Amino acid sequence: MTGVYSLLPENGTGLLGVPHGTEYLAAGGYAPLADDLLDRIDAARLRGRGGAGFPAAVKLRAVRDATGPRVVVANGEEGEPGSVKDRWLLRHRPHTVLDGLRLAAALTDAERGYVYVSDPAAEQAVRRALGEHGPGLPVDVVRTEHTYVAGEESAVVRRIDGGPALPTAKPPRPFESGVGGAPTLVANVETLARIALLHSRPDAADAYLVTLAGGGGGTALVEAPAGTLLKVLADLCGHGRSEAVLLGGMFGRLYGEGWRDLTLDHDGLRDAGAALGCGALHFLGPEDCPVAVAVEAASYLGAQSARQCGVCVSGTGAMAKALAAAARGEGDADTLPQLRRWSSRLPGRGACALLDAAARVVATLLDRFPDVLDAHRSPGCAACARPAPDDGRRFTVPLP
Ligand code: SF4
Repeated sequence: MTGVYSLLPENGTGLLGVPHGTEYLAAGGYAPLADDLLDRIDAARLRGRGGAGFPAAVKLRAVRDATGPRVVVANGEEGEPGSVKDRWLLRHRPHTVLDGLRLAAALTDAERGYVYVSDPAAEQAVRRALGEHGPGLPVDVVRTEHTYVAGEESAVVRRIDGGPALPTAKPPRPFESGVGGAPTLVANVETLARIALLHSRPDAADAYLVTLAGGGGGTALVEAPAGTLLKVLADLCGHGRSEAVLLGGMFGRLYGEGWRDLTLDHDGLRDAGAALGCGALHFLGPEDCPVAVAVEAASYLGAQSARQCGVCVSGTGAMAKALAAAARGEGDADTLPQLRRWSSRLPGRGACALLDAAARVVATLLDRFPDVLDAHRSPGCAACARPAPDDGRRFTVPLP
C-alpha cells in the first residue's frame, strides 16, 4: 500500500483534511488572530516537527520577548531522505503553512517572513499561493540547495543572509541573533501548519505526519493520532513482519525488540529510549540486517558532513569505516570497544548535530543488537556483504 492516508476518525481535525487551494480562503483561512492562540498551542503541547521536538510555545515566546525587529522563517528544507511530509505540505497545503507563518509573525511581533525551500515544485506552489493571498507581512521565498544540513536552523539563517547553507557554531541561536542579526523564529512547516489548524479548529487532533518506508513494504505519508501503536502503522503498509525500525530517520535511533508496542508520542518515545524526530520510520524487513542499515546510515552521514569541523570529518568517517569492517567480519578485538568510545564521546562536539546522529545510530546498534554484532565476528551476513552506498539510496522515499 503506497500513498497518503489519514488515520484520524474525523476528517477536518487533521492537516490532510484542511481545504486546499483557494478553498482555504473560502473556508475562512487567514482569519484575524485569536487572543488565546498561544494558550491553545500551550494546551496542545505542540512540539516542533522538524526533528528536535522543542515546545513550540516556548520558542515563540523566546522570539516575542527578544528586543528589536523580529523575523519568522518557514523552514521547508527537508534534508532527511526518509521524510516527505514537509515537501508534501508545501506542494499541497501551501496556504496552511503561510497562514501558520502569518500567525507566528503576529504572535512574535515579527515584521518580515521567509519561506526556505529547495524543492522546485514546493517553491512554485508557495509562490502561487502568495499570489492568491498575501499573508499580511512581506514574505520572501529563498531557494537553497538540498543537503542533509541545509535545514539546520543556523544554516537556514546563514543562507537567507546570502551565505552558504552551512551550520554555524552556537551560541548565538537564531532566536537571539538570526537573519540580519534580528531575533528569528525558524519553524518547521508542519509546526506552522499545525498552528494554523489550531487557530481555525480549537478541537484540532493531536496528530503527527509520519513517513513510512523500508524493506519489503510500501511507502506512505500518514497522519495518525497521538498514541497510535507503531504496529498499526507497520501493518498499514505491509511492514508487520519487520524485526526492527530506524525511528526518526538518520537523526533517530534503531529499535529492535518491543518496537511494535511503541506509540506515537514525544514523551512516551523519549521514556522508551526512542525519539520521533521528523517522523520518518524505516522498517527493517526480514531480509534486512541492522548492522547493514547502521553502516549505510553512518556512511551517508559521513558523506553529508559539511566538513567544517575536524572532529565531524574524522569522527563520522572513522565510525563508518570501523562499522563497515565489523559488518564484514574484519574487525579486531578493539573495534567494538572503539565504536562504543566514539559513540559516547563524540556527541556535542560538532557545530551541528550531524555528528551526534552518526554516534546515536552506532550507539543504538551496539546497545540493542549486541548479539547481531557478535554474529558478524566472522563473514557470512548476506545483507552486509553488499557494498554500502553513501548516497542514502536505501532511505530515500519518493514523494507520493
Ligand atoms: S558537525 Fe559536521 S555537518 Fe555539522 S557543521 Fe560541523 S562538519 Fe558540518
